[in-house]
Amino acid sequence: MRYISTRGQAPVRDFAGVLLAGLAEDGGLFMPESWPLFSAADWRAMRGLSYPDLAARVMCPFVGRSIAFEALTKICHEAYAGFDHPAVVPLVQLETHLFAQELFHGPTLAFKDMAMQVLGLLFQHVLAERNARVTIVGATSGDTGSAAIEACANRDRIDIVILHPHARTSLVQRRQMTTVLAPNVGNVAIEGTFDDCQDLLKALFADVPFRTEMSLSAVNSINWARIAAQIPYYVAAALALGAPDREVAFSVPTGNFGNILAAWAARRMGLPVARLIVGSNRNDILTRFLERNDMSMAPVEPSLSPSMDIQVSSNFERLLFELFDRDPVATADAMRGFRATGRMAVSDADWHRVRTVFHGFRLDDPGTTAEIRRLHDACGYLADPHSAIGIAAARAQPPAHGVPTVAMATAHPAKFPDAIEQAVGIRPVLPPRLADLMARPERFVVLPNDLAAVEANVRALVGRNR
Ligand SMILES: *Cc1c(COP(=O)(O)O)cnc(C)c1O
Repeated sequence: MRYISTRGQAPVRDFAGVLLAGLAEDGGLFMPESWPLFSAADWRAMRGLSYPDLAARVMCPFVGRSIAFEALTKICHEAYAGFDHPAVVPLVQLETHLFAQELFHGPTLAFKDMAMQVLGLLFQHVLAERNARVTIVGATSGDTGSAAIEACANRDRIDIVILHPHARTSLVQRRQMTTVLAPNVGNVAIEGTFDDCQDLLKALFADVPFRTEMSLSAVNSINWARIAAQIPYYVAAALALGAPDREVAFSVPTGNFGNILAAWAARRMGLPVARLIVGSNRNDILTRFLERNDMSMAPVEPSLSPSMDIQVSSNFERLLFELFDRDPVATADAMRGFRATGRMAVSDADWHRVRTVFHGFRLDDPGTTAEIRRLHDACGYLADPHSAIGIAAARAQPPAHGVPTVAMATAHPAKFPDAIEQAVGIRPVLPPRLADLMARPERFVVLPNDLAAVEANVRALVGRNR
């Protein structure tokens, strides 16, 4: 399988190249040159596979010749071995035609682990074949940093340094990062905001001599390998509910559009997906687009579901590319226009095409709290604020009668104990393996918002390990 950029100006790469590069050189996002198609017989043959075996089967065409199937299967088994639930991604029935698929049984209790655990092992495998090392740097306001750290800790070909805004993350989120004491992990608290951290990250990559010397790499949500690793759970849910002989719908609490894009990819590969529902909080740019073709940027407002507090959903560019029949010039123009004017121009005809599959729904904070309470009263289910939005979206936008909808449950309720307690008066407890999180020793350094200081810190960590 070969990969092309959505903006058409970057060299074609294979899966390993796309994994290591992340973003394409022309600022575009990598897309598979063609979509693998599975027949009804292919889907049926996957029924009954364990989740890791299913994941390897579904990812195999994307990985192509970069990694042998046996090695990929081994990677998938290792990636999901540490999950707390034997089914890895259990389905919970909430109503006759409504299910939640729990994607939060991994080490950091959020769905980011589903892809990140695979990614750490993919990196390690590809780097071993090239006898190379990388330094992964990232900036986080919460979930992504801890998932990346858990995925990379103690991998001998990777050093990882994560920047977070000092005293501006939740205590659970900070401790999920800073209590990982592996020698290849560096946590840097920046005296500044999340935006300052992101600017520092960009500056690290823009310093080409430093980037080359350190072999910098990133694992942010535009990395195609992350999307590929998120497709299998849609397949697993659909097969469990009767696909390919029955349609299903999916509802996804959405931020960067990565998770729901994976659902769209599964549909493109032949899975019978009747409808995709985008759940958003008050940061509702995608829902405004789906309701009335209004994709205009607005300031980001904090909410009870912080992982969806996003205005520019980077992975939307991939859908746009498909919508424009893979025309890279039209895609690049639309993205340039969006950056320049704050508004995305999509023709009515194209908008109607999106609407044949995608539906939008928004829920503000009081609505989210009410939904958490309603769910708990109705069936005893405890949903975190992100998952509650997905479930509410599924109920608000039901597909044709008899088609089941699966709402993605993206975080464990114990990750957001205050919101849950406020809604239902119960404080959810962390799973046993994290019960002592608040008592574990931490390691992180506090640095000023200064590029030279961060570069010196990264260089020192890498120097100790090379
Ligand atoms: C990252 C995240 C999301 C949003 O997923 P995208 O792929 O960015 O759309 C939703 N819920 C939780 C808990 C997350 O961590």
